[in-house]
Amino acid sequence: AKAAGKNQISVFHPGLRVERLDQARIAEGLRRALEQDAFSVDYQPVVNLETGGVHAVEALLRWRTPEGVVPPDAFIPTAEETGLIVPIGTHVLRRACFDARRWHERYGIAVNVNVSAVQLRRPDFVATVLDALADSGLPGEALILEITETALLDTGMQRSDQAVEYLFQLRGHGVRVAIDDFGTGYSSLAYLHRLPVDVVKIDGAFTTLTSGTDAASRQRHAFTRAILGLCESLDLPAVAEKVETAEQEEFLRDMRCPLGQGYLFSKPVPAATLDRFLAGGGTG
Ligand code: C2E
Ligand code: CA
Ligand code: CA
Ligand code: CA
Repeated sequence: AKAAGKNQISVFHPGLRVERLDQARIAEGLRRALEQDAFSVDYQPVVNLETGGVHAVEALLRWRTPEGVVPPDAFIPTAEETGLIVPIGTHVLRRACFDARRWHERYGIAVNVNVSAVQLRRPDFVATVLDALADSGLPGEALILEITETALLDTGMQRSDQAVEYLFQLRGHGVRVAIDDFGTGYSSLAYLHRLPVDVVKIDGAFTTLTSGTDAASRQRHAFTRAILGLCESLDLPAVAEKVETAEQEEFLRDMRCPLGQGYLFSKPVPAATLDRFLAGGGTG
């Protein structure tokens, strides 16, 4: 093929160029959203499968635009590439700590906050978290940071001593760490006990259990059972994500999974809705 000079990208990789344009537009929108306070945080209960009570809530970022709410999966990658996830993540963390203080005081509930690998690489990460706790009055014991396995690896895919060190420091203040999306990454079960991990969140891909007898469902059951067994023996509470049906809940309870989260119990809701939900004392 003939070289097309500066048009080469559009000739050979039309998709790439569109993607770049979209990225620039998203980044611009994110900057404006930060200035105009267009980010909000919804909360989804994590339920004790034995008692039905709310054990914790997960803070989930929402970007409100005149066209509607943009789901985080659509903009988090751009936010990470541009570094904007740092101020956005701090915003979510602070919002969550301020909201969670009353839930913790009244009901003993903890709040889970998602943390990107980009945030964990910042030397001021520990100070940012401790400031959010001090300013909000939320005790460290009521904060759980959700981190994916890959966030604990550095760019060379080695265990990131720095990230691990930050998490150990925060644990000294009572903050807990949850491994998010467990089962989708390397899932090096063997090293779980060597990392600063307090909670394991099993990815929804495994917990969408059905009574099907096909190989795929049997494999999901076996895998979920194996993870739950491991968590139990390491004394790590497990949360099954994306529980949507009563059948799934029953399977999980039979496998002695202590905690669940999903549309069956509640969708993510604004803080005011959660206030009413908790005051009603229900999970339904
Ligand atoms: P995640 O941390 O795995 O969060 C769980 C996602 O599953 C949420 O999607 C939640 O709304 C959804 N979900 C909950 N229950 C069910 C269910 O029963 N069925 C199904 N199909 N989905 C369910 P959401 O809110 O769209 O967030 C998507 C991802 O965006 C999150 O996945 C997380 O990786 C990321 N994210 C969200 N908020 C933040 C944040 O504040 N900071 C960072 N760094 N990432 C965030
Ligand atoms: Ca999460
Ligand atoms: Ca997850
Ligand atoms: Ca995820």
